Amino acid sequence: MDINSKVIADFIADQLSKWELADNNFKALAGVKVKTLDVDGMPIKVQFNPARIVSSSAKVDAKSLKERKCFLCEANRPAVQYGLEWGDGRYTVLINPFPIFPRHLTIPDNGHVDQLIRGRVADMMRLARALEDYTVFYNGPKCGASAPDHMHFQAGNSDFLTIGEALRKVALEPIVEDGAARASVSDELPLPVIVIDSPCPEAGQRLFERIYDALPIRDDETEPMMNLLCYPEGDDIRLVVIPRKQHRPSFYGTEGDDTMLISPASVDMGGVFITPLEKDFERLDADLIRRIFAELCLDKATLRKVAESIKV
Ligand SMILES: [Zn+2]
Repeated sequence: MDINSKVIADFIADQLSKWELADNNFKALAGVKVKTLDVDGMPIKVQFNPARIVSSSAKVDAKSLKERKCFLCEANRPAVQYGLEWGDGRYTVLINPFPIFPRHLTIPDNGHVDQLIRGRVADMMRLARALEDYTVFYNGPKCGASAPDHMHFQAGNSDFLTIGEALRKVALEPIVEDGAARASVSDELPLPVIVIDSPCPEAGQRLFERIYDALPIRDDETEPMMNLLCYPEGDDIRLVVIPRKQHRPSFYGTEGDDTMLISPASVDMGGVFITPLEKDFERLDADLIRRIFAELCLDKATLRKVAESIKV
């Protein structure tokens, strides 16, 4: 079916009127503690969100995945949960019962297929255009996805994230144009990103896949590690590519005084860090966030090389 922000608003309201657990979790969001840090000019919000412990501590190794029922497959969803078909019947739009955003959606593929982005960016861009005031995001299999065995996007209201506004304020340096799409980089954000702008989902996907092919890939991975955020920007759709080199920070964990339960994904990279434990919420500061970006994101020099290699 055709979706737009009105259809989605009615859908969310209807699901919350029938699904108590989800309704309680959305209501609880209004009372969560939030603080805002300045990290080299980019505002970063920190959200203390105890309900997200399930996701932050998710075991995503092959054995653990095999032993659990996939919560994104239709057969395993709660009876009260229903979805809206989208994209010629290929995807279903669902509400996320463990929200971070005041409006939070999960959009799984209708088949139980691995989380892989190749061939899907055009879908992502079309979805971002249809949802209007949402940011659609993708977490790579070891970059925050808690169901790396079932392809899915998520989406949340754009005004909640800070990266969109931060990118509007910095100078973007164009690196390549390909048909109706162009890619740029910026040295002014605290984390290295590549930005693709295009009014055309197919052109955006083509240029994205040139970058994908140029990114380093680890022997033990199925695709280059990354987070993606996608939203309308003027007449274009903007895709923010955040290449990664590590899954979790070196101090990730629950044991010992020096560990923190922080497992960054697209939302964190987009400017909202989620801490399920209050002690981590109190402790997280700008220096630690700089350290997390440095440990998890592909460094600026390597990103420059990737950008240079796709110039023709
Ligand atoms: Zn599944």
